[in-house]
Amino acid sequence: MAVPPPPSPTLSASQLATLASLVEERRANVGDVLYRVGDRRYPFIVVLEGEVTILDAAGQEIIRHGPSGFLGELNLLSGQTVFLTAVVTEPLRYIAVDRDVLRPLLFQDGPLTDLLLSTFIQRREALQRIQGVGLEIIGPHSSAATMRMIDFARGNRLPFTWRDPAHDEGAAAQVADLDATRLPVVRLPGGAELQGPTTGEVYRALGIGLELGPREDVDLLVVGAGPAGLGAAVYGASEGLDTLVVESTALGGQAGSSRRIENYLGFPAGISGTELVSRAVTQARKFNARTATPYRAVSLEPANGRHVVRLDGGQEIGARAVLLATGAQYRRLPVEGLADYEGSSVFYAAGPPEAQLCGASRVGVVGGGNSAGQAAVWLARGGALVTLLHRRGDLRETMSNYLILELERYGVVVRDRSEIAAIHGGNGQLEAVTLKSGERLPFSFLFLFLGASPCTEWLDDMVARDEDGFILTGAAASAENLLQTSVPGVIAAGDVRSGSIKRCATAVGEGAMAVQLVHAGLAQPSLT
Ligand SMILES: Cc1cc2nc3c(=O)[nH]c(=O)nc-3n(C[C@H](O)[C@H](O)[C@H](O)COP(=O)(O)OP(=O)(O)OC[C@H]3O[C@@H](n4cnc5c(N)ncnc54)[C@H](O)[C@@H]3O)c2cc1C
Repeated sequence: MAVPPPPSPTLSASQLATLASLVEERRANVGDVLYRVGDRRYPFIVVLEGEVTILDAAGQEIIRHGPSGFLGELNLLSGQTVFLTAVVTEPLRYIAVDRDVLRPLLFQDGPLTDLLLSTFIQRREALQRIQGVGLEIIGPHSSAATMRMIDFARGNRLPFTWRDPAHDEGAAAQVADLDATRLPVVRLPGGAELQGPTTGEVYRALGIGLELGPREDVDLLVVGAGPAGLGAAVYGASEGLDTLVVESTALGGQAGSSRRIENYLGFPAGISGTELVSRAVTQARKFNARTATPYRAVSLEPANGRHVVRLDGGQEIGARAVLLATGAQYRRLPVEGLADYEGSSVFYAAGPPEAQLCGASRVGVVGGGNSAGQAAVWLARGGALVTLLHRRGDLRETMSNYLILELERYGVVVRDRSEIAAIHGGNGQLEAVTLKSGERLPFSFLFLFLGASPCTEWLDDMVARDEDGFILTGAAASAENLLQTSVPGVIAAGDVRSGSIKRCATAVGEGAMAVQLVHAGLAQPSLT
């Protein structure tokens, strides 16, 4: 297999002893299956003696675990359907800790949490690079629902394989008789097939995600689960507020797509967006904040005492306070035919599947901000020949110095004053771009980091917004508190707020501040 095996660290003697004190030791024989692809759940398994081999759905070996090694990846924490099969390959003495027993331990034991979280995340990243693990999504590039499903799988870091009928005869035969409403076909681990499912249906079929009732009533509703929303969830729930977070796409927001956040306090070596988000979600769950995804807020009806937010599935949430933390979404490039390439050779985030896809090809990264710099470095480190295009005269105006040095270090070519006027290719595969200067550059893949617009259209004119759509708060909204919107009891935090500093730390801080404001508001019923 071309993919390097994921790391396989071992537990210390004292960690083994702690885990062994929780459950009885077990034994298994060669050939016994501990869990298999498609199982609803599996326990945390620690090998005391012997060996277990992990296989994909086609029976290909992925890795072997020996004494003091442990099995599992991110789905052990999320409760997602099992993607892999574990077979005993040497007589086994082991312990199996149920997920519900493991979780409280993770809240108490810092070193164990660190080891498991970082190992599970690395294993998930490795799985995302392997074809044939996880979901199979079958549908053409021209199907908007198929592309939405692929985006959803990417955003949620689900391993998946996309089978495009244009390049795959088997896939073409499978979808030949299906009309657009039955696309994509999604095959779940274990073989069950869904035709034309919503992203929510797939999520729940995988066993993840809270299913909301038609009406829920909470103290604090947080709309959006980026750093601001998750920050508010942790602080709100830890301070006793009944807190619900609804998220339309993937927990973590923009931060979840960041390769490495270098400037977040407390992580001198930087932290990947996935790890920051996994830690935040684990922390929010520890305090019993509920996160519900994918649920999109589609309207807000302010009222005295209890605001109502309606969701795209028809559910309504009554909340004494609402925190708007819907952040911002990437801007698209204004060139003809862009949609034909999006998802196959034009991307808005650079994660493990994209790096795997690009290999050593010629790649263009567009944008002058830190997100573009991070992506360019990550792709170049993976072996791609990267050119960074930006429109200003000097990258130092917009990018942090440490990243500019990294670009040099990894051989990224930087082209100042370069804007794309047209893109060329066929069948979803990019071949070249033409710059406004008329120059043509051969690129097989393009990554766009062009800044973002606020996700506020759904609010209509219910709260005051600035001319770019960002939510006005504080003095600009004739409100006393920095985060208070024009509607009492409706608060905004993070990137969605007009004038906010667009950074992770600020978003988390504002999320935490918002909770104080909610407390103050709840203490004065006339304000909420
Ligand atoms: C690639 C990249 C790299 C970055 N690197 C860094 C870095 O190194 N350091 C740093 O400090 N910052 C970095 N940033 C910026 C940082 O990630 C953002 O400032 C931060 O994520 C903002 O957090 P937020 O919670 O306000 O919004 P977001 O992260 O945008 O989250 C908002 C969430 O709301 C959801 N949402 C939107 N509309 C709805 C709706 N109607 N209903 C329900 N949910 C909805 C979205 O799906 C999203 O998950 C980076 C950003 C990107 C894109």
